[in-house]
Amino acid sequence: LTELQSIASGQSETIEIIRDPAQVAKLSKDYYSYSPLLVAALADKVGDVVVRPANEAEVIQVAAVCTRHRIPVTVRGAGTGNYGQCIPLRGGVILDMSKMQAVKWAKPGMARVEAGVKMAALDKQTREIGWEIRMAPSTYRTATIGGFIGGGSGGIGSITYGLLADRGNLLALRVVTMEEEPQVIELRGDDVYKVAHAWGTNGIITELEIPLAPAYPWAEFIVTFPDFMTAARFGQALGDADGIVKKLICICAAPISNYFAPFKDHIPADSHCALLMVAEPCLEPFGELVKEFGGMIRYQKSAQETGKGVAIGEFTWNHTTLHARSIDPSLTYLQTLFPADKELKLVEHLYHHFGDEVMMHLEYIRVKGVVIPAALQIVRYSTPERLQEIIKYHEDNGALIANPHTYIIEEGGRKTIDPQQLEFKKRVDPYGLLNPGKMRTWEELQAT
Ligand code: FAD
Repeated sequence: LTELQSIASGQSETIEIIRDPAQVAKLSKDYYSYSPLLVAALADKVGDVVVRPANEAEVIQVAAVCTRHRIPVTVRGAGTGNYGQCIPLRGGVILDMSKMQAVKWAKPGMARVEAGVKMAALDKQTREIGWEIRMAPSTYRTATIGGFIGGGSGGIGSITYGLLADRGNLLALRVVTMEEEPQVIELRGDDVYKVAHAWGTNGIITELEIPLAPAYPWAEFIVTFPDFMTAARFGQALGDADGIVKKLICICAAPISNYFAPFKDHIPADSHCALLMVAEPCLEPFGELVKEFGGMIRYQKSAQETGKGVAIGEFTWNHTTLHARSIDPSLTYLQTLFPADKELKLVEHLYHHFGDEVMMHLEYIRVKGVVIPAALQIVRYSTPERLQEIIKYHEDNGALIANPHTYIIEEGGRKTIDPQQLEFKKRVDPYGLLNPGKMRTWEELQAT
């Protein structure tokens, strides 16, 4: 710390260091509070100091000092992750990347940006040249692109472009290593997966190159349906309708829409509804599809009006859980991938099997060219054992659970560590200082 401070004070443009305990405590948190299990495990974890570099040269200086003194470093974007991904388990430095917000360049189909740029801000810039981010989490207004690549999986736009893990959704990244003499490594092609979704354990991302999509004028809709399965089947049909350009298909079973306070004048109580973003040139065929499924459009906002009032995306993905928990904080959630099945048999079975205990919230996405429902079901929490039973029942019946109640990478969606990631960690973080305690395989290797 003394050395970090002397770096800070020895420069004309000093590295920002935050030591105020209240601030450090705040910047040691993310959104793990949606999980009662993570709250029990992480509530007392705090870093020693927050360092906020303004550029890559400062990141390198911090990495060198921390490596020399074997100080753990937990990289942080906006801290909106849900699994305690940026909670410092062993104290040390919180490396807050939020000052590094430059858009290096944007051209048709691609952009190169610093890791701390907020996704909504980036989208605004790329839209000026007619392009937009392919996919973004519902936290796009605050979340950073580095944090999305480090800890996210997909979101609004995944109905067309798939998940972040799909080849082509990340073009290149640049990392600073945790060595006494830190190196800067640029990864391209499949090598980007040595770092993507490694929760900040495999190098400090300073820059990224991402693909862009043509920017459409997106209209927003809420449509209600007479029953949940009709709403779910409408979602599948809209996902499969290749001629209708869309960005979001979120289906919520009753009573979830009762939690959406700003829409209470639009959605009748206990409705089964779809929250949608559809390209304006496609509104006529979209209207025909709504009619075919007996849906009723309850709310509509033109692309021109977006930016005014509430944004529908901020009621979808894990924002659905956020709104539900703002009314009932005892609620928690699950993350599920359903097998491809146009008849949605497993969705229907689980919907009826759990009833009100597991409220069905589907997000349609494209996986390997096929549209399937993912889900972030809202769960009425009772005990850890019951939560485990619910998870097991899903898995026994063929659903894949990306467990959001763990801070260990291997216990979440990926299940195992990519051997390439483990090898890369040996190279870029030989002392295991980056976000220690999150990669189980690495910890086991150190113990032997
Ligand atoms: P952080 O939370 O700060 O970091 C996430 C992880 O990335 C951490 O492990 C951190 O160490 C690492 N990291 C951050 N920056 C870097 C860097 N420069 N170099 C290396 N590692 C780094 N996620 C989705 O995928 N889709 C959603 O739709 C979605 N919806 C959400 C809704 C709500 C209400 C909430 C609370 C969360 C949601 N999330 C979602 C989770 C989260 O918001 C996103 O993944 C977001 O992109 C994380 O960005 P961040 O800047 O907040 O990252």
